[in-house]
Amino acid sequence: MELDKMDENDWKYHGEGNKSLVVSHLQHCRVLRLLKFPSEDSAHTRQTAEQAFRHILNIVDYSKYVMKPLLGEKYVHSGEVVKLPLDFVRQLSLKVQQERPELRCDKVMDTFSGCGLCLPNLTQLPLHHLRDHRPPICVEIKLANGKWKRLSRYCPLDLFSGSKQRMYVALKNLLEEPQNNLKIFKGGELIFSCKDDAKQQPELNDLIQHLRPYFSHSNGLYNGHQPGKAILNEFIQVICSALLSGGDSNRSGEPRKVHLSESRPHCEASPFPRDLLRNGNHGLPKDSVLAKILQVQMLDNLDIEGIYPLYKRVEQYLEEFPKERNRLQIDGPYNESFMDKVKNCPTEDDGSVEYAVGKVHQYRVAMTAKDCSVMITFAPCEEDEEQQLKLEKPRFTYSISILDLDPKPYEGIPHQYKLDTKIVNYYLRSTQAPP
Ligand code: ATP
Ligand code: MG
Ligand code: MG
Repeated sequence: MELDKMDENDWKYHGEGNKSLVVSHLQHCRVLRLLKFPSEDSAHTRQTAEQAFRHILNIVDYSKYVMKPLLGEKYVHSGEVVKLPLDFVRQLSLKVQQERPELRCDKVMDTFSGCGLCLPNLTQLPLHHLRDHRPPICVEIKLANGKWKRLSRYCPLDLFSGSKQRMYVALKNLLEEPQNNLKIFKGGELIFSCKDDAKQQPELNDLIQHLRPYFSHSNGLYNGHQPGKAILNEFIQVICSALLSGGDSNRSGEPRKVHLSESRPHCEASPFPRDLLRNGNHGLPKDSVLAKILQVQMLDNLDIEGIYPLYKRVEQYLEEFPKERNRLQIDGPYNESFMDKVKNCPTEDDGSVEYAVGKVHQYRVAMTAKDCSVMITFAPCEEDEEQQLKLEKPRFTYSISILDLDPKPYEGIPHQYKLDTKIVNYYLRSTQAPP
């Protein structure tokens, strides 16, 4: 990618979240992630180019030095900051505007700083052989903090249970009510997600049509024409197997192969306490992507009620010694020394500001892990034609990644606390109210 010869016609709208808009390259397995800000922000409240650059650099550093060591090399792709020509960014912004969902248009893409984040396109498989006519399928699951527009039966606890049955149920519910938490791509194109309209149900039948060529093996029973239910069932099983695997997904090397009928001896929630302990008190295999994420989420062992007083302690200290803000790395830089503070925080509260800062840092890291997405990208193995002839179940190569690992702002803590108090009060009122 030559940064001085960027052409908006090489890129297309890919998706967006609350903080950023993503465009993908038409030929290469690359995406650009651009920041967004509220459209009512005026020129002087906006970040300067310098600040935007710093902001994105912080995102990269945080991913590289904090989240990657915690979650595992193989799952995290930190990307790099790029300086883009302003003309390119402006043209791009005009080009993607009509593709953007209305719901997201309260924010505008940053066309001022020219800074962006360049990442591998994780909805694609870089080594996927072009000989196969079936492009990779990618399933993106956002883990917890989706915006629930209506009640859903999807339960993250089931997903993290490590029990194949419960995970199956969680994924099935997610497919039936994806809301904001599930997206499916085929060959990098979004084919399944929740629509803007809260009442609209996703088109499961369309999804089944997309998936049919991937699961069209003849297993004797259906003679190559499996009913939709069987296809969905196998699709969910592939996702489950990938989520429970040691996840040797490697974008640089050979992706792993998974056999559909392979049943994993260690993925059921084990009834034996010894095994539960070995697995860190949950039923997930130690190296699985979900175990890694859960482990980081559990860095928050005090909850917001426990963190808020420590945040106040830090604030009080900073009021007295404002220059200490840098040494304590409140706003970064997110480097090895920040990681040290996260890892080596004293276990007991000794009343120090170091303890309070360590806990606050840990809390923020856990919040990032609660808000990230997992992408499972898989495609049929090359030898699949043979497999079909032998009437066996299909094999897939797959790759798993964790994305959206931005630092959560220190300043967000009081807001989080207020939100929590509101919810608790509401709960208390509703449970204690006289009939
Ligand atoms: P959120 O509101 O969830 O915090 P965000 O604004 O931080 O979102 P991302 O989640 O990073 O933005 O990106 C938005 C969407 O773009 C993702 O949900 C995903 O579908 C897509 N996306 C992001 N990064 C990549 C990537 N490296 N490869 C492919 N798709 C990506
Ligand atoms: Mg996101
Ligand atoms: Mg995000």
